[in-house]
Amino acid sequence: MLSIITLGDPLLAKTSSLVPDFDDGIRRLAAQMFEAMGTKGVGLAAVQVGAAVRLFITKAPRDVPRVFINPDILVTSLEEEPLEEGCLSVPGLYTEVVRPASVRVQAWNEKGRPFTLTAEGILARVIQHELDHLNGVLFIDRLDAKKRKRLLVSYDEKMRF
Ligand SMILES: [Zn+2]
Repeated sequence: MLSIITLGDPLLAKTSSLVPDFDDGIRRLAAQMFEAMGTKGVGLAAVQVGAAVRLFITKAPRDVPRVFINPDILVTSLEEEPLEEGCLSVPGLYTEVVRPASVRVQAWNEKGRPFTLTAEGILARVIQHELDHLNGVLFIDRLDAKKRKRLLVSYDEKMRF
């Protein structure tokens, strides 16, 4: 089973590179990521299991499992909303983050087929959170500096004990 890297691992700050081929290796990676995520999360980026390529998976509540390869957000709504986020790479830390309420995204699936998808609610949120991972950005980086610092202090204390 692939293990998930956590805060402090420099790979989390790295920009992932484009997936060049939709081969068996990529399909295997996606399958292994679903296994690693299990029922613990609603999304996971490849970089979180140590593979810095532009691929993430989602399994939002009441939605099918989805694979996004080389994704791009085409449109975001002007309307923004606060929603609570967490991250398997920052275990135990949950906080509200403000982001666009809906997005239109273009990507390829694990079979190499291109698709576009308009998402709102939790799925829109997961897509934005995971796409950030591909650019080396964590959800806590979206907070103002003061709030981020306060959360990280309590995270460090929790991790130490
Ligand atoms: Zn995350």
